[in-house]
Amino acid sequence: MLKTLRPSRIFGLKYRLRLVSKVRRIPMPLLSILIGLFCGILVWLALDQVQSRALRDIFSEELNTRLDQQARETLIRFESYVAAHTSTTRLLANHRNLANYLEPIYWYDADGGVPVIHYENPPWLPSAALWQTLVRPSQVLLMDRSGQTREIYNVGDDSFPGDLLQVDELFLSGPRVQAFMTTLQGKLYLLVSETAEDATGTNMGYLMLVVPIDDRFLDASQQGVSTGGVVVALMDAEQQFLASSDPSRVPDGSRLEQISERFEVTAQSFFEYEGSNLNTLFATLVPRSSVEATLSRVEAVDRRQRLVAAVAFVTVFTLVFYLLSARLNRILRRISHFSRRALGVEQPVIEKGNQIFVLEDWIRQFIGQVRRARDQMRMEHETEMQESEALQQALMEGALDSIITIDREDRIIEFNPTAERIFGHQRSGAIGESISSLVIQSESRQSFKRMLQRFTLSQGAEIQETRSEMEAVRSDGVAFPVELAIKPIRLQQREVFTVYIHDITNRKRAEQEISSLAKFPSESPSPVLRVNRLGAIIFANPASALLLEYWGCEKGQTLPLYWRKRVSNVFESGRDWEVELTIGKHHYSLLMTPIVELDYVNIYGRDITAVRKAESRAREHQQELVHVCRLSTMGGMATGLAHELNQPLAAIANYANGCTRRLQSDGRDEHDLIYALGQINSQADRAGEIIKRLRRLVGKQLPVRVVADINELVREVCTFVEFEARKTGVVIEQELSLDGLPVRADVVQIEQVLLNLIRNALDALLDVDVEHRNLVLRTGREGKRIQVNVIDTGPGIDPETASHLFEPFFTTKESGMGMGLVISQTIVEDHNGRIEARPVAGGGSCFRLILPAYQADEETDIV
Ligand code: ADP
Repeated sequence: MLKTLRPSRIFGLKYRLRLVSKVRRIPMPLLSILIGLFCGILVWLALDQVQSRALRDIFSEELNTRLDQQARETLIRFESYVAAHTSTTRLLANHRNLANYLEPIYWYDADGGVPVIHYENPPWLPSAALWQTLVRPSQVLLMDRSGQTREIYNVGDDSFPGDLLQVDELFLSGPRVQAFMTTLQGKLYLLVSETAEDATGTNMGYLMLVVPIDDRFLDASQQGVSTGGVVVALMDAEQQFLASSDPSRVPDGSRLEQISERFEVTAQSFFEYEGSNLNTLFATLVPRSSVEATLSRVEAVDRRQRLVAAVAFVTVFTLVFYLLSARLNRILRRISHFSRRALGVEQPVIEKGNQIFVLEDWIRQFIGQVRRARDQMRMEHETEMQESEALQQALMEGALDSIITIDREDRIIEFNPTAERIFGHQRSGAIGESISSLVIQSESRQSFKRMLQRFTLSQGAEIQETRSEMEAVRSDGVAFPVELAIKPIRLQQREVFTVYIHDITNRKRAEQEISSLAKFPSESPSPVLRVNRLGAIIFANPASALLLEYWGCEKGQTLPLYWRKRVSNVFESGRDWEVELTIGKHHYSLLMTPIVELDYVNIYGRDITAVRKAESRAREHQQELVHVCRLSTMGGMATGLAHELNQPLAAIANYANGCTRRLQSDGRDEHDLIYALGQINSQADRAGEIIKRLRRLVGKQLPVRVVADINELVREVCTFVEFEARKTGVVIEQELSLDGLPVRADVVQIEQVLLNLIRNALDALLDVDVEHRNLVLRTGREGKRIQVNVIDTGPGIDPETASHLFEPFFTTKESGMGMGLVISQTIVEDHNGRIEARPVAGGGSCFRLILPAYQADEETDIV
């Protein structure tokens, strides 16, 4: 049923919610201070009430005790004042003045009626100074034995109460009563009497002191001791005041109830004056104002103390509350931390504000999270169960291996699809059959049974799994190798076994292949070795025997230090390294190949003795060929060379003839002779030089590389062809570089190349008119390359010839051999250079020899 909420209720609810949310936002320390203050004030107010009441009770009790005490003291003082009158009376009565006075006196009854009145100190009293300081009577009476007053000494101004002219026996001092209080003519008096004797000791009568009990008497009775406005008074039985020490505040005749508002009254009865005809009470009046002032002072002090206590209480309470909340916060954080770890979910962050409410929120959320986590876990568990079953099914179906579940009697319980496919049995047919007779080859059945028995006999000993290799058999009777593993599954009621059967046909084949492959290096005629990172030999085939002997180590031992370093370098670089090694007459090429993933270096050896021999022979043949070619070139130049040699020889002959002639004639001049002999000597040197050069070119010598200036080589070659050029009318222009052009070369071979190129040019120039026969030799440098250009103005090279220029035995000349350019190219390539041939614009051809420039600090580059 729907209820309509009244606006005021809605407002109230809203207001409460707002208030709660406001309170929640108040920080803990502030709230604890507020609560502390509130509680402190509350406790203080309650305590104040109780304490004040208790204090008042104690105070009034104490006050009563004090008042009693004070009343007793005032009474004692009053009585001692009265006693002072008694003793003074006795003193006066026994004074010798009185005795002397009474000695001659005799009072007659007839004399009665008019007493003698003294206004000065009578002779029967001692001097006034002696006794009037002690007591202040209004009258002193001298009476005869019958109580009739004979003489009166009127001390004060007070009128004499006529009643005392004939004093009742009762008033006179007897054995019991000496002082007596009575009212005479409406006023209160103290009568103190003492027997008066004459000098002979005869009782003459009485001496009586009449003392009015008025304010002065009462005040004097307290001898100035009582303070603080305390009033003493005498009161009759009707509680009417007869006299007081302060009539202005307590007037005579006033009643007790009239002044009880202003005074605390303590009334006491007199015991000493039992003979009195009055029922008088002695009252001590203490003003209430002074009592209350004291009380309020005490209360003020007490309140102050309570206030201090309350402040201390609030402070301590606040502090305790604050510490408690801080501790609570810490616990909260720890719980949050633990729960985060335990549940793996974030907890609400503790906000600022009232930590108690935060705690409440937090616990509510925490419990909610725990509940959610529990539900989620339950759900996950159920899902996991379902998934696990599905997964198991999928595993069974999707497994690459055959999975067969059997019981202790080796009967098949489960047979997966892979097993169906591999063994060719249907699941329905296989279930219930004995596994060993269905899929295990007869020779392997015993070993399978032994495997199974290990579980059945082990009885308690935990065997996790057992595996073995054996032969299985298909439904068509074909056997194949398998790896078989049995894993026990202990169910609650019984024990079953899962048999995993893995077809290892391919693995076996691969193993065989690997083992046959492994034999390869062993059968290799070349050395094959494997060393590890440290240089230890792991494997060495029989062909490595010579290498092992050379290194002085065997399989399993480490290589010598140099070779270990090489192995290490190969590992670090990750690149192959090849080296040649000569052992006796054998030459080996060793290739080190790193197998980084296996941490090995393979060393492949190759016996290159035969190769090197063939190369050496080929080189020798080439040198022979070069030499032959050079000889052939020189042969072609024989005429020119002979002519060149002839010139110094002819000159020598001329100078020799001249010398002979001068020696035979008379006028011989010694100086001329010496000059001629010098010329003979220099010409002989020149001839010798030509022969030396010839011998160098013609002689057979081993190739030697030296650094030489190419300009020098060009100049030297020119001297050989000078005669031939001159003969054919060719002008050789030498455009040689001014800078030196160093090359590292075999000088004889390079000169042979230059000779070949120049002679080919000279041959080509024969085909043109004499006036057009020009030959330019130009040297220069281009970067790191040095060039020699042989430029002729001959007929040039036609494209057909150009394509065969560097082929062996290609010649266009009748007497040509066709080997010049081939040999030249071989020589130049051997020097890392090349020869280029190109036509020249306007006729002629240019042959360019290119060689790498020699650089002292660098390796020469291949051109
Ligand atoms: P040969 O000089 O014995 O013929 P070469 O190998 O020196 O052998 O020369 C081969 C051929 O190259 C020459 O027969 C010639 O036809 C051609 N040849 C070489 N140099 C020149 C040149 N400067 N001008 C024209 N043809 C040349």
